[in-house]
Amino acid sequence: MKDIQMVDLKTQYERLKRRIDPAMADVISSCAFIKGPALKEFESNLSAYLGIKHVIGVANGTDALQIALMALNLNPGDEVIVPSFTYVATAEVIGLLGLKPVMVDVDINTYNIDIEEAATRITSKTKAIVPVHLYGQSAPMEEILFFAAKNNLYVIEDNAQAIGGNYKMTDGTVAKTGTLGDIGCTSFFPSKNLGCFGDGGAIFTHNDELAAQIRMIANHGQPQKYVHKVLGVNSRLDTLQAAVLNVKLEELDDFAFRRQAVADRYDDGFKTNKHIICQRKVEYSDHVYHQYTVRITNGQRDQLQEYLKSKNVPSMIYYPIPLYEQEAFAKYYNGEPHEVTKQLSREVISFPIHTEMESETQDYIINTINLFFDK
Ligand SMILES: *Cc1c(COP(=O)(O)O)cnc(C)c1O
Repeated sequence: MKDIQMVDLKTQYERLKRRIDPAMADVISSCAFIKGPALKEFESNLSAYLGIKHVIGVANGTDALQIALMALNLNPGDEVIVPSFTYVATAEVIGLLGLKPVMVDVDINTYNIDIEEAATRITSKTKAIVPVHLYGQSAPMEEILFFAAKNNLYVIEDNAQAIGGNYKMTDGTVAKTGTLGDIGCTSFFPSKNLGCFGDGGAIFTHNDELAAQIRMIANHGQPQKYVHKVLGVNSRLDTLQAAVLNVKLEELDDFAFRRQAVADRYDDGFKTNKHIICQRKVEYSDHVYHQYTVRITNGQRDQLQEYLKSKNVPSMIYYPIPLYEQEAFAKYYNGEPHEVTKQLSREVISFPIHTEMESETQDYIINTINLFFDK
C-alpha cells in the first residue's frame, strides 16, 4: 500500500501528464506568459462549463473575493455578512477593505450559514452577504437570494470548495454553484477540486457592468492602458496555470464523480459507528466533496487524530479556531454565542479524499478509524 495522503496530487498528475505537459510546453515555447491565448481560452471554457456570461481569471481565490467586494463600491464601515465557520480568507478581505465582517453562526447538520440568524443581524449598514459552500456542498442559495432581495444585499458566493456542483431550484431549474449570486469566486489552489500548479483564482458574473468593473480593478483600475479610473490591484491568472486548468476542466465532472464514490464508501463504513455523524446531504445541491468531514461526538476528536497519526492515516481539522476567537477578528466580535461554530470547531475532522483513492487504502482508513472506537 502507498503512503496515505490527504490529497494525492502526484498520481493525478501522472494520469493526466500526457495532456498537461504539452499544454504547458506550448505556453513556454510561445513565451506568452501574461494574458496569453490559453488564458482567454480557459476563461471562455469555464464560462461555457458554468453557464455564466463572464469569467475573469485572477491570481488566487482570496484576490477573487477582495476584487469582487471592491467592485460593489461599498463605503467604509458597511457591513458584510459571513459565516463564522469558514476559511479566514472569506472574512479577511472584508476587514482589509475597511468594511465590517458580520460573523453569523452556521447550521449543525450542513455546516453552512444559518439564514435565520443572519436575519437578526441586519442593520442599515448591511450591504452584502458572502455565503460559503463549505466542503463542497452549496449553502441554501434559494433562501439566501430571497433574504438578499428582501434586504437589498449583494450576494457574493465563495465557491472555492464547491466548483462543479449543481444547484437545484424548487422550480426544477439547475445551475452551477457560484453562478446564482451577483458574483461567484473560486480558487485554483492545487488541492482544490479544480487545482492548478500554483496559485490561481477566478471571478464569475452574469452582470456586464460588474464584469467590466472587476476586469478594471484586477488590472490596476485601468479601463484602458495608462488610464487609471479607480484604485485597483494587479491580479492575474498566469497563462501557464490556465493551460493546466484547460486540461483539468475537462476532467472536473469525473473528479467530482471520483470524490463522491470515496464519500459514499466512507458514509457506508461509518453507518454503524454511533460516534461519527456525517455531514447531512441536502436535496437542493449535490456535494462535490472538497473535503469529507464528519463530527466526532464522544469528545475524543483530538485523541482520534493522534491515534490515526500513529497508524499513518492523515487527517485535518478544518477549522480548529473559530473566526471570532482569532485576534485579527476580535474587533468585529460583539459576544454573540456562535454555539454551532464552537461545537464544530471541537468536533469536526476531515479524512483523506481525492480523485485517486484506491478502495484497499480506503478500507484500511475506515477500519482504522472504526477500531479506535472499539478499543
Ligand atoms: C481556498 C479558499 C479560499 C482562498 O483561496 P486561495 O486561492 O488560497 O487564496 C477562500 N475561501 C475558501 C472557502 C477556501 O477554501
